[in-house]
Amino acid sequence: MFSKLTQWLGTRRRDRALRDYAIDDALWQATLERLPFLARLAAPDLARLREMTSLFIAQKEFSTAHDLELTDAMTVAIAAQACLPVLNLSLDLYRGWVGVIVYPGEFVIRKTVEDEDGVVHEVEQDASGEAWEGGPVVLSWEDAQMTGGSDAYNVVIHEFAHKLDMLNGEADGHPPLVRRWHAPLDSSGWADVFDHAYDHFCAQVDAVPQRRWTRFERDSLIDPYAADHPSEFFAVCSEALFVAPEAFEAAYPELYRLLARYYRQDPAQVGLAFTTA
Ligand SMILES: [Zn+2]
Repeated sequence: MFSKLTQWLGTRRRDRALRDYAIDDALWQATLERLPFLARLAAPDLARLREMTSLFIAQKEFSTAHDLELTDAMTVAIAAQACLPVLNLSLDLYRGWVGVIVYPGEFVIRKTVEDEDGVVHEVEQDASGEAWEGGPVVLSWEDAQMTGGSDAYNVVIHEFAHKLDMLNGEADGHPPLVRRWHAPLDSSGWADVFDHAYDHFCAQVDAVPQRRWTRFERDSLIDPYAADHPSEFFAVCSEALFVAPEAFEAAYPELYRLLARYYRQDPAQVGLAFTTA
């Protein structure tokens, strides 16, 4: 009885959110044109993405910094890209926090880092995005618009991949696996492929001579920044899976398959290979 009532309330809330936050055709069309990788989705999946985008906007609080004007185009573009990774998982994976903060361009983050001698320093660095554990996602709008080119860059997917990774504690490139979605893949199966690929990528990056660095950085499908930490490798590879899937699959077939199983999407094929649970 109670669960039926909860379910009924949930359905009513969902229907209301879909109605109150409906995305009109012209805006949705403009969003798809700006984000060409979404065209890989088959029509029914795109329709689900549109609904999920409305629900995301209903659940989250968008705000801006430095007097940036928040537009519907901005909100829908960010929400649609945030929803793409969880389209065949669940929007519930983004529960527990509400803020999406948009800066006009790069912003400064302050971090404490420990050096080799164990001394803790406060450092400032420019960032295009940041995901806080249990807190907001912060994005540079200028960088958020730089997607869809020939490289695999997508700061929105990157930060939301961190959010998924944080579901089982500090981001470490090992997001939680859910039996009903991911079995028989388990954490040791994940580690076999992912850790190996990360070590291999780091060795590759370390081997680049100084004089070839600029060229390597430009030509590498996976941004060398991914060698910083396993969590960055997971986030950068997630960008590649959705934005440049053919190139990613060709260069890293095992890793492609692992991420495709995790997200339950196979973007290198036209349309989705998996149905929803
Ligand atoms: Zn990152």
